[in-house]
Amino acid sequence: MKVLVATEKPFAKVAVDGIRKEIEAAGYELALLEKYTDKAQLLDAVKDANAIIIRSDIIDAEVLDAAKELKIVVRAGAGYDNVDLAAATAHNVCVMNTPGQNSNAVAELALGMMVYAVRNFYNGTSGTELMGKKLGIHAYGNVGRNVARVAKGFGMEVYAYDAFCPKEVIEKDGVKALDSAEELYKTCQVVSLHIPATAETKNSINYALLKDMPKGAMLVNTARKEVINEAELIKLMEDRADFKYMTDIMPAANAEFAEKFAGRYFSTPKKMGAQTAEANINAGIAAAQQIVGFLKDGCEKFRVNK
Ligand code: NAD
Repeated sequence: MKVLVATEKPFAKVAVDGIRKEIEAAGYELALLEKYTDKAQLLDAVKDANAIIIRSDIIDAEVLDAAKELKIVVRAGAGYDNVDLAAATAHNVCVMNTPGQNSNAVAELALGMMVYAVRNFYNGTSGTELMGKKLGIHAYGNVGRNVARVAKGFGMEVYAYDAFCPKEVIEKDGVKALDSAEELYKTCQVVSLHIPATAETKNSINYALLKDMPKGAMLVNTARKEVINEAELIKLMEDRADFKYMTDIMPAANAEFAEKFAGRYFSTPKKMGAQTAEANINAGIAAAQQIVGFLKDGCEKFRVNK
């Protein structure tokens, strides 16, 4: 069996070493196509591959047509909109992602942004502490769970609301489960957002939801920018001088936020929640393990084209 790692933006060497170890231990062969500049190189490399590991690389119908021996594609990472799922299904190719592998990285960034905010952006003035503050986790998935774990270490009082995760699962972690997003925002001074962007959640973080947050409120967004109603957030921050917004996903109106809300608005220049060496290594190795599990035992746990 031949496993191809096709990465326009390569993994770190230590990740490739880890992938190689998993693949060779299973008795398979590893091939590398890194930093390719032309789709023709990819079309050539996939010809005899039985499995492919990718990052943001595009796997479309043309690539699938060229990959006559292909059984599985694994996107090392969470998002998989770079793979044509319908075409993969039509070619009888299993597609997987590696959820959860970057969750700790994102969670650490969220807590880092909270500290930065309560310490007044490290401007030399006296700030406040996270200990004792009420933190609301909006969606208790892979990232939300990690935020809860780290926040408890800071001594925060942790609450969560998730539309689909049973309350018992949340409370087992020593986190108070609430019944609605409204209740979460009313209760917590700091809210960390971890909902996916869906038809239901798009634009859902709006004036009505945010206006009742306690005094000194802070919203931390490491999720997606589509879930924020930007115009209403700007209006709210105009009306509430105590409100801080920290985000890892730069809003379309970044310049306006930066100009109007200096000292209580921060955006990373480029989404960097998952940008750590560890997340990169974890996702690569998980991809290799999932390929071995699929080819040897037929395990389809992380299949996304059901
Ligand atoms: P996940 O799928 O593990 O968890 C999502 C959770 O949201 C689930 O528990 C689900 O039940 C819940 N949910 C879905 N719809 C909901 C709704 N309407 N109301 C309340 N809860 C709802 O996802 P994850 O890996 O934890 O990722 C969370 C978010 O973080 C996603 O938006 C993802 O795109 C983003 N993300 C960002 C980065 C980054 O670099 N900043 C990296 C990874 C993930």
